[in-house]
Amino acid sequence: MVSKMTIYLDSAATTCPSEACVSAMTAMLRIQYGNPSSLHRFGLDAQLLAEQARKQIAAALGCEASAVMFTSGATESNHLAVLGAAHAYGRRKRRVVTTTVEHASVRGAFDLLEAEGYEVVRIAPDQDGRLTADAIAAAVDEQTCLVSMMLVNNETGHILPVQQAFAAVKREHPDVITHCDAVQGFLKIPFTPEKLHADLLTVSGHKVHACKGIGALYHKKGIRLIGLMKGGEQEGGLRPGTESVPLIVGFGAAVSELRANLASRAETVSGLRAECIRQLSELDGVTINSPADGSPYILSFSVKGLRSETMLHFLSDREIYVSSGSACSKGKQSGVLEQFRIKPDLADSTLRVSFCAENTAVEIAALCAALRDAQEKLVHKR
Ligand code: PMP
Repeated sequence: MVSKMTIYLDSAATTCPSEACVSAMTAMLRIQYGNPSSLHRFGLDAQLLAEQARKQIAAALGCEASAVMFTSGATESNHLAVLGAAHAYGRRKRRVVTTTVEHASVRGAFDLLEAEGYEVVRIAPDQDGRLTADAIAAAVDEQTCLVSMMLVNNETGHILPVQQAFAAVKREHPDVITHCDAVQGFLKIPFTPEKLHADLLTVSGHKVHACKGIGALYHKKGIRLIGLMKGGEQEGGLRPGTESVPLIVGFGAAVSELRANLASRAETVSGLRAECIRQLSELDGVTINSPADGSPYILSFSVKGLRSETMLHFLSDREIYVSSGSACSKGKQSGVLEQFRIKPDLADSTLRVSFCAENTAVEIAALCAALRDAQEKLVHKR
């Protein structure tokens, strides 16, 4: 349990499970612990509850419930989408296209394809740090079977032109499968897989106030996939293994609750981000790395003369929790900031602050005061 004094500004890394999630999960763990594959009534009850959660996720994605597949999280969804779609094409088409700014779980899946002999084309942002739809579309040819592009970058909040890119790809090459890692956009910026022209789309529970270890893959009807594992018939045989009904039901409950307050939450968060930028601009040597038209939920900035890790620990000692970049890279630089044309010395001094609607202006003020303190104590001392 975090103490009252704790200031948690790392929601892109993970969020606090909501009350709705915790109470739905508790009931599942204590009372409805049946196996949804069991043929008796107790199993059927668990299955019905899981199906209700599937409908809740589908409603948030604006799709049919049958298109939602549960997985252990976005890392698995990304692997299933990228490897599963490429493998489904067999040996016919062996070229795949992605970007250089994807999350490690997408980059890793493409590295696996490369090791299998696929030609992997990785499109980088241009001189202005922008990834254009044209650059993606131009990389796709007759030999291409898959294009994968994230919606919101987890380190900077850049919103990528997925809709335009996928529309252009589908216009010229309707058979190419499109996949989007929408983890940092889900319930944060408006989209549906259909509007994005995405055949496959990844979301994660723990970024939207559900638990870790649960995610989903939107899987458009008719798109062939080869599963990563063989086993039972769960999730249409594509994702065998007994479903974690508590996690699934908690995911559904969290998503349902968030959906009800989407607009007001986005407004709160936009206000917090604007206030954070205003207060940071009063400090010396601060550069904002996130674009003005980026996600309201993520703010990346650099403080001249202070290294990311030094600041992170200074803040952590004051129970202010932020990230030095992508939480998944655990201090190891992913190179994504440089891909977005952030200069290497600034990249070394970067912090990522990410918000949720429960954050307050008082917390933002405390963060900025602590950073001022860090500058006084650490920069001028050297
Ligand atoms: N994609 C993106 C864009 C992410 O931010 C994350 C989490 N950092 C993931 C994928 C991986 O999500 P999970 O922890 O559910 O595997």
